[in-house]
Amino acid sequence: MNQSIKGIVLSLAGLVLFFGSLQAQTDTAAVLKKISDDVFTNGKSYINLRFLCKQVGQRLSGSHGAAKAVVETARMLREAGADTVYLQECMVPHWVRGAKEVATLELGKGKTYNLKVAALGNSVGTPGSGIKAQVIEVKSFDELNKLGEAGVKGKIVFYNYPMNPTYINAFRAYGEAGVYRGRGPSMAAKYGAIGVITRTLSPNLDDYPHTGSTVYNDSFPKLPAVAVSTNDAEYLSKALASGPKEVYIKTNCRSLPDTVSYNVVGEIRGSEFPNEVLTVGGHLDSWDLAEGAHDDGAGCVQSIEVIRTFKSAGIRPKRTIRAVMFMNEENGLRGGTKYAEIAVAEKEKKFIFALESDAGGFTPRGFGYTMNAQQGQKFASWKNLFYPYGASDFVPGGGGADIGPLYRQLQTPLAGLNPDSQRYMALHHATNDVFEEVSERELKLGAIVMTQLMWLVSEYGL
Ligand SMILES: [Zn+2]
Repeated sequence: MNQSIKGIVLSLAGLVLFFGSLQAQTDTAAVLKKISDDVFTNGKSYINLRFLCKQVGQRLSGSHGAAKAVVETARMLREAGADTVYLQECMVPHWVRGAKEVATLELGKGKTYNLKVAALGNSVGTPGSGIKAQVIEVKSFDELNKLGEAGVKGKIVFYNYPMNPTYINAFRAYGEAGVYRGRGPSMAAKYGAIGVITRTLSPNLDDYPHTGSTVYNDSFPKLPAVAVSTNDAEYLSKALASGPKEVYIKTNCRSLPDTVSYNVVGEIRGSEFPNEVLTVGGHLDSWDLAEGAHDDGAGCVQSIEVIRTFKSAGIRPKRTIRAVMFMNEENGLRGGTKYAEIAVAEKEKKFIFALESDAGGFTPRGFGYTMNAQQGQKFASWKNLFYPYGASDFVPGGGGADIGPLYRQLQTPLAGLNPDSQRYMALHHATNDVFEEVSERELKLGAIVMTQLMWLVSEYGL
């Protein structure tokens, strides 16, 4: 073949490849649009979320609500058209709040002020008669350490560390301020404190105390601990500035023996690689103060929607898709741990990808991902496909608490849905996390981009 003919053949081959890849891109975009149209037209995520919030309600591990949520989401998965629906048994902690807690600030001259508080999850209760002591405010562990036993013994420690308002991503501020809820009670116990008040983890000033897990260090006594609303944190701080004050706290929470519960799994078998499993999920349990609409009813119904959409739009995935309602993310992670344990034992299967939605049902912006460099490159190459859906923000880092054990045990590549983060932390773990705070359009758009991503991985692998 002479050089000029060779050149023409090569350019023709190039053109074929170019148009071929253009065609593939158009086909891919068409499937993504089909998914979007189906969810917006036939989607059930909003209806399912209403049921989960209004007919089931709070779903803390071990509660009646959690048991009912297992039954109802299994039904939703069957109705969504899953090929198989089954449960994975796991033992979970069973913490109960008991009667509503009370905290009263003594202002002197017989005057008192009722602080709006909520006992922290896993916290022990006060003695039946409550506790009463002087309150010491600290802004950090450094301040606590400086006070030492001389300044803390016999007192109630008040951690007043606000979420940093200058961080654009609210989860960053939550992570930073969250250490006082998590480790604060044991740190105070080390110096002989008798109780703890932590400033609620919310960026806004309002009257909602937010619960959430505290984690005791077994080396120290377990102190009763409550979160105080941000408005009342400010009030308490101002009151303390004018001189020492006492607070009376009475909480009624306790831990009952562990009890049996379940992850709920719904599956569509892959047509070409059935042993390659893609997991998509949210956590089914929610704190006891509200309906757990954004945290994490949204992630559960979106994951069910992934199954429904494949079936409804007539898209058969090449790889197996599993939607998982994980139990006990909030105060133990037993469901996520159990899922990975079973996955490790399923030797014939490969767990090639897992996606979690646990950051609220707000407008999706994109995905965070944790995987090796080569997988990450392939994953990030899809981001422009999500531009029309406003979700092309693909950032390294992220996944989800429940799928974390899969990564640690099997190096499964992870991704997490990243919705807009501005409003989430004002509702998180508080009585205002209710169905009415969820937008149907935003919830569905989240389900759409999750389904699209699951389809891309099922089609092309990672
Ligand atoms: Zn959550």
